[in-house]
Amino acid sequence: MNGDPKPTTDASAEPVDFIREIVAADVKSGKHKTIVTRFPPEPNGYLHLGHAKSICLNFGIAKEFGGRCHLRFDDTNPTKEEQEYIDAIQEDVRWLGFDWGEHLYHASDYFEQLYEWAVLLIKAGKAFVCDLSAKEISEYRGTLTEPGRNSPHRERSVEENLDLFTRMRAGEFPDGSRVLRAKIDMASPNINLRDPVMYRILRATHPRTGDKWCVYPMYDYAHGESDALEHITHSICTLEFEDHRPLYDWYVENLPVPSRPRQYEFARLNVTYTMLSKRNLLRLVNEKRVRGWDDPRMPTLVGIRRRGFPPEALRQFAELVGVAKRESIIDYAMLEHCVRDVLNRTAPRRMAVLRPLKVVITNYPEGQVEEFEVANNPEDPDAGTRKVPFARELWIERDDFMEDPPKKFFRLAPGREVRLRAAYFITCQEVVKDGSGAIVELRCTYDPATRGGSAPDGRSPKATMHWVSAAHAIAGEVRLYEHLFTRADPGAEGELFDDLNPQSEEVLASCRLEPALAGSAPGTRVQFERLGYFAVDKDTRADQIVFNRIVTLRDTWAKVQAKQK
Ligand code: ATP
Ligand code: MG
Repeated sequence: MNGDPKPTTDASAEPVDFIREIVAADVKSGKHKTIVTRFPPEPNGYLHLGHAKSICLNFGIAKEFGGRCHLRFDDTNPTKEEQEYIDAIQEDVRWLGFDWGEHLYHASDYFEQLYEWAVLLIKAGKAFVCDLSAKEISEYRGTLTEPGRNSPHRERSVEENLDLFTRMRAGEFPDGSRVLRAKIDMASPNINLRDPVMYRILRATHPRTGDKWCVYPMYDYAHGESDALEHITHSICTLEFEDHRPLYDWYVENLPVPSRPRQYEFARLNVTYTMLSKRNLLRLVNEKRVRGWDDPRMPTLVGIRRRGFPPEALRQFAELVGVAKRESIIDYAMLEHCVRDVLNRTAPRRMAVLRPLKVVITNYPEGQVEEFEVANNPEDPDAGTRKVPFARELWIERDDFMEDPPKKFFRLAPGREVRLRAAYFITCQEVVKDGSGAIVELRCTYDPATRGGSAPDGRSPKATMHWVSAAHAIAGEVRLYEHLFTRADPGAEGELFDDLNPQSEEVLASCRLEPALAGSAPGTRVQFERLGYFAVDKDTRADQIVFNRIVTLRDTWAKVQAKQK
């Protein structure tokens, strides 16, 4: 995928959603030769899962139809926008696997043109300078059931408007004292058409234009005109802009724009247990409820990436979710399903003991070490094997032993035999406790005839457990994550932050990992056998490796799907 990609998928195949249907029809009818879309983030925060859907849609369509997709920063509000976000957004889009080539734009690239067009509207008697305060403007606006009232400044002469607007730009008036408004219809049933504000006075240093401007265009004005300047054919946005479309069209129809873009709306992505709003994500960061924008529990792309989600899984998720015109809430488990699907194929298997319990194999010679050759990925023979050392002292998972097991517990218990994965069968002979009665060690015997994990007499234990050799293990920290919110619909009944899950992160500081994991670089993804998929965190230091749990192995979404069939 580059700026002007060749078609890679068969665009003549049946379109899969209503937007692709429209695009396909426009191509077929010859309305457009080249399809041009754009992804238009406002650089006032980090991108989240919802943006990923929009990115996959816009870049995806461009790719499928042999067109191009622009990355355009909608940077019209300098009080909230920062270079940090501009950089992060570009990194995120690239990480997702998309490329805008040379087509990187900013609404601020067009400030001069937008200003000139505003002057044209004034000259045509279609815009005026208004001195009402923000509060008055909203009082005059009316309601859904009542028409608005004309501003007392609506009938200013063209000359006076031109003079005032020029002086607004020149910085003669204080912030907020005047605005430029389009002169449309204060009685319109669509409130967006009731003389909307086009420009406001705002003294703030802009990340790109610095202090050059003290008047800034409003979103509705800047957006469509930027689309037109870039020859965008399909301007795809979320449903809340549906009521803005008549205004989008009004500006385009009343200005000498070089092309005629069309706006189409789709339902935004909502995901259970997740909150997708930059404003609230920023609050989580500012109030230090999380480790930062890239906290692995955050639905931001930086967070998701740090957590270890592969970008391929997000693209798959976007495809599975589809594009619709009606609001819905997607089950978070569906996203996890996509993550597992990718990782099952790609992540090498390793053994790690998160809550270690010592096992001493009493009949195994002291000082002896064996190495077992274990497959890296049973799903992928090409992934090869690695050597796993075995010795007299091992770590097993504390949960894998019960002194007094209930009926359905098949793992290790006194007198019971289990299989150690790829190694031997062992039988628990003795439980060693400390003064307080806590179990500190198990003394077991092994059956040398079961080398590699099978018995010549064909007996097969009910449980196979993971383990690591105590002498060879490396120490590590593992961070387990749960949903950031306790409710599927956070904030639906009261204060959003009251629904934060106090148990969303659990840090296990003394885990024992198989030696093959030593030196793994941040971002490396593996499956810890029986436990889930994990990724090396950026907090890893030379003396301590840190893993994030990406996702457990249990696929609840697939289960639900199976039930429905
Ligand atoms: P937020 O509501 O989180 O602040 P936003 O819509 O203000 O997001 P923008 O930077 O304006 O953020 O969004 C860039 C693009 O991403 C827009 O086209 C917007 O429609 C789209 N987008 C934002 N949130 C979602 C979502 N949840 N699902 C799908 N697309 C989204
Ligand atoms: Mg927005």
